[in-house]
Amino acid sequence: MLIRIDITKVFEEVERLKPRTVFIVTPDGLLKEAVRLASTLGASGVEVVLSGEACYGACDLKEDAAESIKADLILHIGHTLREERAGKKTVFIAVEDDIEFNRVIEKAAQSLRRFKKIGLYTISQHLHRLSETKKLFEDYGFEVKSDEGGRLSYGQIIGCEFQPAYSIKDEVDAFVFLGQSRFHAAALALSTGKPTYMLDPYLEEVIDVTPLAEDLWKKSVLAVYKAREAERFGIIIGLREGQMKIKQAKHIREELAKHGKQSTLIAMREISAERLNTFTLFDAFIQTACPRISIDGSGFNKPVLSIPQAYALLNLLKGKDVGDFLRIPSWI
Ligand code: SF4
Repeated sequence: MLIRIDITKVFEEVERLKPRTVFIVTPDGLLKEAVRLASTLGASGVEVVLSGEACYGACDLKEDAAESIKADLILHIGHTLREERAGKKTVFIAVEDDIEFNRVIEKAAQSLRRFKKIGLYTISQHLHRLSETKKLFEDYGFEVKSDEGGRLSYGQIIGCEFQPAYSIKDEVDAFVFLGQSRFHAAALALSTGKPTYMLDPYLEEVIDVTPLAEDLWKKSVLAVYKAREAERFGIIIGLREGQMKIKQAKHIREELAKHGKQSTLIAMREISAERLNTFTLFDAFIQTACPRISIDGSGFNKPVLSIPQAYALLNLLKGKDVGDFLRIPSWI
């Protein structure tokens, strides 16, 4: 497996903007490549600072940190959106994983043969494989669809947005997710309500993620019902720039107050079980930062709801059904 950073774009941006200091932001899985990139850029005479903090997604921009260290350009490596830029200084730099899907598609062609039309989706690092995998499936007789939508490119999903897949869900029998993230595949199943299979190119496995999606759904619903009994809520505003949803947090607070629920707004960057478990005075939390923390997280002593779960809770408090609150194109 070889990971390739779009180095041409890196040098184009550096040439165009002539920054004094470049700030490199990257997820933990790409730190080795980021250190190598820092050396390469450094050797060309640019001062480089590498972010040592965790970076969870394209939402995690770190423009405030760049401002503090007086960096002129942020190279955000490994997460991409349809727009190439974000904030004032961020440029998304794509990373390509050269792993091929041929062998796992050969297996999938057998196990998925009861489906005729499939939707094909993946995450940023495998997007360059989309057209060749589409062709492979077509050669096996499948009708293959993908789309773009919202902030996302053709065939792309991220952990909280599924618009490109959601918009074609009624035109396909099942979805195929290319990659090794069970959460992304299960989230695709939850958003679309369709049978969904993860094609892991490293282990060459075809995995039906329906059981995982069902577990995540049950866990999400249970948290909503538990939160109904809560009297005191901590409502969290995420301090990571792309996760900051002050309006939604205040709106949810006002709505909870109509049902006699007390709440306190809390601002924090790292929303972990370790941190939240120290707030013993609250009966439940609503975190407006990242849905994955609530839907896929563990170790919390109290219910921790995402935005869609918070609206499901408000429905419950109004005497309505929770509804299919994750069957939507975006969870943020
Ligand atoms: S909000 Fe969470 S799931 Fe969405 S992109 Fe950011 S880290 Fe990923």
